[in-house]
Amino acid sequence: MSLPPDYHMHTPLCRHAVGEPVDYARRALETGLTEIGFSDHSPMRQDDFDNWRMNLSQLDEYVEKVRKAQKDFPQLTIRLALEVDFFPNGGDWVRELAARHPWDYFIGSVHYVSDSWAIDDPQKLSEWKHRDSFEVWSAYFERLTLAAESGLFEIIGHADLPKKFGHRPTRDGTALYAKFLDAAKKSGCAIELNTAGLRKDCKEIYPSREILKLAFQKGVPITFGSDAHAPGEVGMNFAEAIQLAREVGYKECCRFAKRKSERVKF
Ligand SMILES: [Zn+2]
Ligand SMILES: [Zn+2]
Repeated sequence: MSLPPDYHMHTPLCRHAVGEPVDYARRALETGLTEIGFSDHSPMRQDDFDNWRMNLSQLDEYVEKVRKAQKDFPQLTIRLALEVDFFPNGGDWVRELAARHPWDYFIGSVHYVSDSWAIDDPQKLSEWKHRDSFEVWSAYFERLTLAAESGLFEIIGHADLPKKFGHRPTRDGTALYAKFLDAAKKSGCAIELNTAGLRKDCKEIYPSREILKLAFQKGVPITFGSDAHAPGEVGMNFAEAIQLAREVGYKECCRFAKRKSERVKF
């Protein structure tokens, strides 16, 4: 049985990752992966939106870097994707991006719970002090549910990101999770097991076992991602992620080509 594809990795174009796609690909082969996907932070219409993504003019360069890795490592399946920030009413921009290249999948991620606050941005960590933690969790899942309903994405990224710095929901979040997962099931999008959480303060895979259990009960498909921002992080902690997925009942995950999905055993 082969390792599941690692569908979440970045490139230096986002300005907070190191190593070229060819370096990630080389590392993937070393770790025994047979399929990976690049999903760097998508550009915004305005380049000065924030400072942790590629400029719009760099999108073609991004695609070329991925194409080079595909050419240099024909023994590895390499998918072309983006991690796209979801904003309510931001659908037009996502569709414009989708039309620019033959993408294999889009990961829809909520980082921003308002137009100006990305909850996972270490430079905006103090913002948490001014907010009620459960209200942030609620606002986050409200947007995540809209992202799942939008039909714009094949995968929803790191589904419980608000825990990154250790901010846990102060009340029972089951209703929030259930609503989101019902939306994911209905629109047919997958959620990812993202191992980057293990490298953050929360020291836990995204999403939690509790959410993943609920996802399995509701029949929501999964993918796996390291969220690598350096070649050494490719496939990191996949053994734990596979174990978690198996323990809650999963035996299959999704792979994507040209935005069409297929189930594979892992
Ligand atoms: Zn990043
Ligand atoms: Zn992300």
